[in-house]
Amino acid sequence: MSNMILALAGDGVGAEVMPAALEVLCQVAKTSRLDLEIREALVGGASIDEHGVPIADDTFALARGADAVLLGAVGGPKWDDLPFGKRPERGLLELRRGLELFANLRPVRVFDALTDASSLKSELVRGLDLLVVRELTGGIYFGKPRGIEVRNNERCGFNTLVYSESEIERIVRVGFESAKKRGGRLTSVDKSNVLEATVLWREVAETVATDYPDVTLDHMLVDNAGMQLVRAPKQFDVIVTTNMFGDILSDVAAMLTGSLGMLPSASLSAGTAGLYEPVHGTAPDIAGKGIVNPLAMILSVAMMLRYSLDAPDAAADIERAVAATLDAGYRTRDIALGLPGETEVGTIGMLDAVMARLTA
Ligand code: NAD
Repeated sequence: MSNMILALAGDGVGAEVMPAALEVLCQVAKTSRLDLEIREALVGGASIDEHGVPIADDTFALARGADAVLLGAVGGPKWDDLPFGKRPERGLLELRRGLELFANLRPVRVFDALTDASSLKSELVRGLDLLVVRELTGGIYFGKPRGIEVRNNERCGFNTLVYSESEIERIVRVGFESAKKRGGRLTSVDKSNVLEATVLWREVAETVATDYPDVTLDHMLVDNAGMQLVRAPKQFDVIVTTNMFGDILSDVAAMLTGSLGMLPSASLSAGTAGLYEPVHGTAPDIAGKGIVNPLAMILSVAMMLRYSLDAPDAAADIERAVAATLDAGYRTRDIALGLPGETEVGTIGMLDAVMARLTA
């Protein structure tokens, strides 16, 4: 049966890394005998320019019908002055909400060849391989009431942190399932010493834990988790946490790897459909120069194969080819350290090096 993949390149460097990702995808599809139908459409600023909206209804319908969506990145200075609700980022938010992508998975892996590119000492990050599971459609970013209003003759801003048991349970289960397939350790991060919503979070996590006797659950307050991530990150296997805490902690964890250009992500719903995108944005400072690192986008394809297309071997082939490319010294500018044995390449050079190792 054919799998339909919707490719939404988006803006800026999104349009440069997507062709690289599709070339890699087509290659592994051939070797793994995966039957794929790839459709392409516009999102973000590109869609605003063409259709007047950040995502057109037709595109949304295609996304709903797709087995997986691959997305580059959206946004850029050209659209920065538009009102909040009409900006390119709205297209992405609508997709996440419309497809009910409640679980955001960000693997943070330090490739051996890039140990020295991290902001932490190499012994702290060598072999680092952790996963942040962030709740993506609830919590304080969506809770109501929210707003800015005048109270006692001055303006007050307010937001609401709210989680139902079912919302907590489904994301915590993703954490447990992920830990089960990895190192068997789950850290649930909350602020239960101050916030009632996360007292409930902790209670639900404890209840769900009884279904996973083979996974060790521990709890950590978010301030401590932030500290531990930069002190001794290798203590973590899987972290599961709320929308806002996950937003912050996953960026902190991301920087341990050295470059945004290395980090893939997956956003999953209750079924197998998902949205896969690099963590980075449209990088307007380097867009159009042919130097953007395509590896985050290529590694997002690997995640898609693993989580939505049930093709873990094809995913592993891509990850091995990326590791071998880095071991051979190929570096885009963002990960180049100027060390002996490095070859600095542009986007196409990096893609060619990965393709050579995929087809070897
Ligand atoms: P950014 O991630 O685009 O860039 C931050 C820095 O990292 C830049 O110096 C950039 O050159 C560098 N960088 C990022 N990805 C790289 C790669 N693959 N290879 C080499 N270098 C890379 O973040 P920003 O500058 O804060 O945002 C730029 C635009 O992207 C904004 O319009 C923002 O709204 C948008 N954005 C979109 C998404 C998304 O679509 N998911 C995410 C973040 C930012």
